[in-house]
Amino acid sequence: MNLILLGAPGAGKGTQAELLVEKLAIPAISTGNMLREAMANGTELGKKVKQFMDEGSLVPDELILGIVAERVTQPDCQNGFILDGVPRTLAQAQALEAAGVKIDHVVSIEVADSEIEGRMTGRRVCGHCGASYHVAANPPKTEGVCDQCGGELIIRKDDAPETVRHRLEVYHASTEVLKDFYGKLGRLRLVNGSQSIEGANEDILKAIGAKV
Ligand code: ADP
Ligand code: AMP
Repeated sequence: MNLILLGAPGAGKGTQAELLVEKLAIPAISTGNMLREAMANGTELGKKVKQFMDEGSLVPDELILGIVAERVTQPDCQNGFILDGVPRTLAQAQALEAAGVKIDHVVSIEVADSEIEGRMTGRRVCGHCGASYHVAANPPKTEGVCDQCGGELIIRKDDAPETVRHRLEVYHASTEVLKDFYGKLGRLRLVNGSQSIEGANEDILKAIGAKV
């Protein structure tokens, strides 16, 4: 099963992707995590994307398509994959279609803008594996330490309130249109993201016809 998780920054895509990886036994592909890793490793790609990411703007489509096209052909994607944070523009969605990347369900996690800032100020992410936590809603077992890999939890630079506001504008201007695109193809599933993490996960599993 090939899935796309769509939604505003902070809607819970990464959090839900982690749970779905366990339940569906397919890998999650987070372009945000891949780009942050490239920056941390100081690769050519990392250098190219740094400014866009720091200011909360979208990275050019061709850079994204290159890394995704390569990733979905890896052996671990044979039984399916979860795209988290990609596609984010109409051009990216059209390029995936043109490349023959088959998508079964597009789950849009719906959260009002007014709720997003609180999520972002409380977000902590693992600097090693990218797992996402929240100081109140989803704290790690040991403060500052990733439950999954023991890595150090950090605050993302682009989670600063002024950058979050810009990222929300970018979402509404460039990404939200994908709901129409996939709606017309009959693949869009809307899920209420303003409920508990477990509740949203249950609704996602039901929406894609998987066992809850
Ligand atoms: P995204 O990948 O869509 O940017 P994340 O999954 O990183 O979003 O979630 C953003 C923040 O909100 C994190 O701190 C996460 O722990 C928290 N969060 C995710 N889902 C929920 C939820 N249903 N209720 C409250 N907080 C949530
Ligand atoms: P995320 O981790 O999904 O919140 O993404 C963090 C940042 O990475 C975004 O603000 C963009 O700068 C960049 N990014 C991640 N995925 C994409 C994408 N599909 N298209 C363009 N930019 C992206």
